[in-house]
Amino acid sequence: MSSYAAPLSDIRFALHDVLDAEALFQRLGFAEATRDIVDAVLDEAARFNETVLAPLNRVGDEVGCRFDPTTGAVTTPPGFREAYAQYVEGGWPGLVSPAAFGGQGLPHAVGVPVKEMIDAANLSWGNFPLLSHGATEALLHYGDDWQKDVFLTRLVSGEWTGTMCLTEPHCGTDLGLLKTKAVPNDDGTYAVSGTKIFITAGEHDLTGNIVHLVLARLPDAPAGSKGISMFIVPKLKVDGDGGVGEPNGVRCGAIEHKMGIHGSATCVLNLDDAQGWLIGQPHRGLVAMFVMMNTARLAVGLQGLGLADRAYQNALRYARERLQSRSLGGAKFPDKPADPIIVHPDVRRMLLTQKALVEGGRLLGYHAASLVDVVGHAGDAKEKADADILLGFLTPIVKACLTEWGVECTYHALQCFGGHGYIAEHGMEQLARDARITTLYEGTTGIQALDLMGRKTLQAQGAGLKAFVGMIERFCGEHDGDEALAEFVAPLREKAAEWALLTREIGARAAANAEETGAAAYDYLFYSGYVALAYWWARSVAAAERSSQPQAFRDAKRETARFYFARILPRTLAHAAGIRSGAASLMTLDADAFGG
Ligand SMILES: Cc1cc2nc3c(=O)[nH]c(=O)nc-3n(C[C@H](O)[C@H](O)[C@H](O)COP(=O)(O)OP(=O)(O)OC[C@H]3O[C@@H](n4cnc5c(N)ncnc54)[C@H](O)[C@@H]3O)c2cc1C
Repeated sequence: MSSYAAPLSDIRFALHDVLDAEALFQRLGFAEATRDIVDAVLDEAARFNETVLAPLNRVGDEVGCRFDPTTGAVTTPPGFREAYAQYVEGGWPGLVSPAAFGGQGLPHAVGVPVKEMIDAANLSWGNFPLLSHGATEALLHYGDDWQKDVFLTRLVSGEWTGTMCLTEPHCGTDLGLLKTKAVPNDDGTYAVSGTKIFITAGEHDLTGNIVHLVLARLPDAPAGSKGISMFIVPKLKVDGDGGVGEPNGVRCGAIEHKMGIHGSATCVLNLDDAQGWLIGQPHRGLVAMFVMMNTARLAVGLQGLGLADRAYQNALRYARERLQSRSLGGAKFPDKPADPIIVHPDVRRMLLTQKALVEGGRLLGYHAASLVDVVGHAGDAKEKADADILLGFLTPIVKACLTEWGVECTYHALQCFGGHGYIAEHGMEQLARDARITTLYEGTTGIQALDLMGRKTLQAQGAGLKAFVGMIERFCGEHDGDEALAEFVAPLREKAAEWALLTREIGARAAANAEETGAAAYDYLFYSGYVALAYWWARSVAAAERSSQPQAFRDAKRETARFYFARILPRTLAHAAGIRSGAASLMTLDADAFGG
């Protein structure tokens, strides 16, 4: 079985040394979020995740969720219920929710490392509370007082969990196709009917009720995505005070059998005149859902990071223990029958790739979370607006890059184990299988790429890009003439300039041919991700040099940054070539001529 130890020293380095989180939290008015409190929360989260959730990871995979077709009930794997009870008792569901609704009101930038630990410890289990956070955000922004009182407070306490019901059999990425109907009742509620598929945590035995946030169409709805409204549909009917009554016409019809995350219930939900309440304005459901989806997209990015980190930890331990062959440069451990595989350049390539993507990716994700705090709490309207633009720009990068790197890292980690990675015993194949979904749900990588290229860049006149490039230029300016940083500053500056140039080139081509946007999107997404990571690696070296971290830690940051700049950042060359090749190489071949 794979093991997990929360990477507290690197989490603290990211939060305290690089992001200077305490100063930010105090400035934003999170008076309680002092360094001591944050560290105590992280310690307790590490204990909970290492001792309660991580030991259930294997059983979640092997036993999985079970479905009873006669009752529609879903039973979670052994231990999941008890772990959820402990999670609620520990106050974790409301960690970052406002105190006014029963939460602890801590910053998102503290919630995110806790989330990373949960995902690394047990991704399947983590999917049960996952969408409660998105539902909480949607209700905070768009719920009325009664909805907040009845539903929001119970999501924050963890008494109930939430879901996000978008997908239908014929309608995945293109939500404009959705058919679920909502017909007004005489009492101001709605009768919601339709079939939703792939609903995470759509049915389970962890809580007494489930709060489904459902996208549906009103009878007078215009066609397409402009005719979608959002409804709260509880699993069990609720009265005016939140008392729970009879079943509400939402029944689980099946759970999916899937490649990974066997402990997470992926449900078909049949809604048959289920009682629902409209959230926000009619036909404006997608706007409300986007609040939820943005929270969920950052959260899924963290899933990729958590799994990559767990996989790396295990690969590193194995590479230090497994003895095979001698080092090419002569025996490193002559007293042993062979050298540990960590001496071999190819194994080091795989380990350093994981280390560079995990530690750099951690900063990418935590920085985005800190922007959520700035957007929500900054006193200055311009600071809020600027942070919002940057957060919008970074969200598809965090979601897509961290999850694709999560898949890459779990595969490298498996490879480090050789054939022992492919068999179930060490748990490495589970991590690789579990990671695979993260690039698909909450919008596939391709859809994140389109969002970044289209809405967040070209349609926004590059506002988010300018903000990030501005951060890079400020950093480079601050370190001009700093010999310790020179090896990173020069290439970073070059990449930032090329990033802006490529964006202008795509914009010019897209003005003449709309296909150019889609053709450039995937390469642009990864080009952006790798340059963003180069920035965080350069900043990590600078922060490590300033910090009181042990010399070995500082050296490791510098050497990993060197590896990143030498061997990972050059992936941007291929992406730039892909971008510059334009749409013709993709679009010329006739669909009928693909073969088959
Ligand atoms: C385990 C699991 C859990 C899930 N949980 C939930 C949940 O809780 N709630 C929920 O509502 N949904 C959930 N989903 C659904 C998930 O979000 C969708 O599967 C996903 O958004 C993709 O939709 P699709 O599968 O219909 O693929 P499609 O939309 O059919 O896409 C197929 C392929 O075409 C590409 N594509 C589609 N349109 C475009 C375009 N315009 N441009 C470029 N490429 C395009 C996609 O990138 C993809 O590669 C879950 C799915 C799974 C498997």
